[in-house]
Amino acid sequence: MKRILVLLVAALLSASLHAADAPKPADRPNILFIVADDMGYGDCGAHGCRDIPTPNLDALAAGGVRFTNGYVTGAVCSPSRAALMTGRHQLRDGVPDWIHPGARGLNTDVPTVAEYLKKTGYRTAAVGKWHLGEKDPCHPLRRGFDEFFGFLGGGRNYFPDPPLKPNAKINHYTQLIRAREPIIETEYTTHAFGREAVKFLQSHRGKTQPFFLYLAFNAVHTPMQAPQDYLQRFTTIEDKKRRTYAGMLSAMDDDIGKVLTALRESGFEDNTLVCFISDNGGPITRNAPNASCNTPLRGGKGETWEGGIRVPFFIKWNGHLKAGTTYDKPVIQMDLTATVLAMAGVKADAKWPMDGVDLMPFLNGDTATPHTTLFWEYGKQWAIRQGQWKLTYAFPTKQAKTPVLGLYDLSQDVAETKDLSADQGERVRQLQALWQTWRTSVSRQSPVEVSMTDVNDAP
Ligand code: CA
Repeated sequence: MKRILVLLVAALLSASLHAADAPKPADRPNILFIVADDMGYGDCGAHGCRDIPTPNLDALAAGGVRFTNGYVTGAVCSPSRAALMTGRHQLRDGVPDWIHPGARGLNTDVPTVAEYLKKTGYRTAAVGKWHLGEKDPCHPLRRGFDEFFGFLGGGRNYFPDPPLKPNAKINHYTQLIRAREPIIETEYTTHAFGREAVKFLQSHRGKTQPFFLYLAFNAVHTPMQAPQDYLQRFTTIEDKKRRTYAGMLSAMDDDIGKVLTALRESGFEDNTLVCFISDNGGPITRNAPNASCNTPLRGGKGETWEGGIRVPFFIKWNGHLKAGTTYDKPVIQMDLTATVLAMAGVKADAKWPMDGVDLMPFLNGDTATPHTTLFWEYGKQWAIRQGQWKLTYAFPTKQAKTPVLGLYDLSQDVAETKDLSADQGERVRQLQALWQTWRTSVSRQSPVEVSMTDVNDAP
């Protein structure tokens, strides 16, 4: 009897110690990532856009921190989304370029932010565009998400598909699915993704379990398709493509507004960290131009000029981040991953060290810079930024087939117009050597092959 009592006390003590170690669910913030697709740096009111009102994005930016030097690691969709999911540069994990239909996806062994959060008790959901592989091992439900609504590839029509014919072969890159089941959607997809995100928040009302919602729009990527009522808002815009872009962006802004309203009405607003980025810069020269605008930056999607990699980048967390803050030091989307894991009390697996850093100390008084150096590579192009200096090997014109090397002082020349490399040979050599060392360091890991027999053989 005495022995049982001792064991019981020991068990109770151990349980209480364990509980004291782990953060209580209610203490941990909910997390909402909102990702836009191919939206230009200059295409929101907060960045000076005048022809397309974006009141909901502007309110999000004004309610928290707006990063003026917010970057993404990828100049196109999949690399950028991969690094957001892992907190690691995409070259480490097999995603150097956008994932083509049927191609390998994000390495399946690297943990995703959803897997980390799910393991510690978060309810996780992904809505919208995935583009990290359409083979089943890469499916969101196998990468840490409890729920998925959207499509697995890189782009699709915004308007409803015709009904599926019996026994028709399904295009797994574009088919809208809920979990793994093909569905027929009746709404414009941007509205459908907004609706599903709202439904998720409403379904979570009253629960103490924290949630992670990843809302990844394919707006404002091509094809250029806007609902008629949104086109009507922009009859004063003469350029047809820009008018359609405006309609698409305005629809996304409205849906973001609905999601943020649902967050408030469901009682989550004060305990939710909301992050917004575009996955890459606006495509103005290459890679599916959509009439976006990256003013005042040079270049766009698919390029290592600032216009390809610097994006609208906001975070908001009431009571933890001061509203109306502007932060000018360089940050990158992988930092969002590291930040939310830190806020959730999750330590990344030492086998998979993160390149992103927790931004909270820097936003709460630490005056050091989160990154002394940032690195990019896309195809033949590459870039390195250290402080005000950026060395980039990028296409000088829209038609150019070969990139050229240039050194720019971003503190004086954010538009990268004055190449200073001829006068600063030593700096060029130093930065180039740093980039080369980094490039070697990220190439060590070989890609993980996903068996072709797994392709879409979902249970
Ligand atoms: Ca994109």
